[in-house]
Amino acid sequence: MREQTKKRHITTQLVHAGERQAPPEAQPVATPIYASATFTYSSMEEIDQVFSGEKAGYIYTRYGNPTTAALEAAMREVEEGAIACAYATGMAAVHAALIACDLKAGSTVLASQDLYGATTSLLQSVFSAFAVNTVTVDYSDLNEVREKARASRPQVLIAETISNPLLKVCDIEATAAIAREHNARLIIDNTFASPYLVQPLKLGADMVVHSATKYLGGHADTMGGIVVSRDEFDQQALFSVMKLVGGVLGVWDAHEILRGLKTLGVRMERQCENARRLASHLNENARVSRVHYPNLGGLVAIELREDTQEAAFRFMNALQLAVRSTSLGDVFTSVLHPATASHRDLLPVRRRELGIVDGLVRISVGIESIDDIIADIEQALSA
Ligand code: PLP
Repeated sequence: MREQTKKRHITTQLVHAGERQAPPEAQPVATPIYASATFTYSSMEEIDQVFSGEKAGYIYTRYGNPTTAALEAAMREVEEGAIACAYATGMAAVHAALIACDLKAGSTVLASQDLYGATTSLLQSVFSAFAVNTVTVDYSDLNEVREKARASRPQVLIAETISNPLLKVCDIEATAAIAREHNARLIIDNTFASPYLVQPLKLGADMVVHSATKYLGGHADTMGGIVVSRDEFDQQALFSVMKLVGGVLGVWDAHEILRGLKTLGVRMERQCENARRLASHLNENARVSRVHYPNLGGLVAIELREDTQEAAFRFMNALQLAVRSTSLGDVFTSVLHPATASHRDLLPVRRRELGIVDGLVRISVGIESIDDIIADIEQALSA
């Protein structure tokens, strides 16, 4: 073999030299990044067996990859589910979870009125084109959820553990009981809480979705999405969406998210404690008329006494430490103006109905020293 390689032209050697070595005897302590789009075997018969499912193995990264599989295994374990599937973004994960519920023309989704804007748009523009109806409801009012479920007979209920941007907490156990009454499935977007704070499957949800771009990754340098299901039955549908739609998570991102998970616990502890202290501090500030903080998670939303976009922009422009950013859940403190960002596409009258006033600012509290965070926010409020 070596003899043959020697005889080959240098251009051929450059292509093949060093590749496809036997795996090292020592096991790497961290999951390697398998940056390989495809996998080979020693014979065509073996490849045929892997294709047919007779033999387990990787074949093409859109169908599965060892780095991504490690992340899926980790998420399955921490969310206590039966199976997990990773996608390119949180939105791809939300889409896959909805598809896995086997929605058909005439099916109804009972969706939280406070869902992330893109999830609402996905339902109201993409799924509605296939005649799937969406009914919205305030999930913090369980009587209304019961009533609307009775009236609309939904196939799927979907809500967020902590809503955006007013941080309302969903009673997952009670909502799951309503879903069961109607033989409907409950999808919980657990992005704002993370499995460190809440594990929705243990409370009765059927599927959990995450934008891994937020707390799971935690460093604003990657995007991803995960679905974890309590039922192995969902594997086929979730896998098919990944394979056929192709919104598969890249291996570099899978690695970043897997690394992010390792510090999720310590980050969450610090972010929650910082958020608690910031919220109680801002409750005393005369320039703030209302503080939204559910005593859960690392987000705080404030309503400025001067309820205008100008006042919100003035405050946000004056920040020197907190970053003006469209995301959340990162190690650094960041701020977002919902009326012109996440909820920009809503009519002003609908925004008001939902309580998203012009002077509302969402703060994602980071792991910095709380004294520095408070000092920055205080000086900006005085600007
Ligand atoms: N779900 C929630 C609650 C979100 O806040 C977001 C994004 O902000 C998403 C889903 C979508 O995630 P991604 O941006 O990773 O697609």
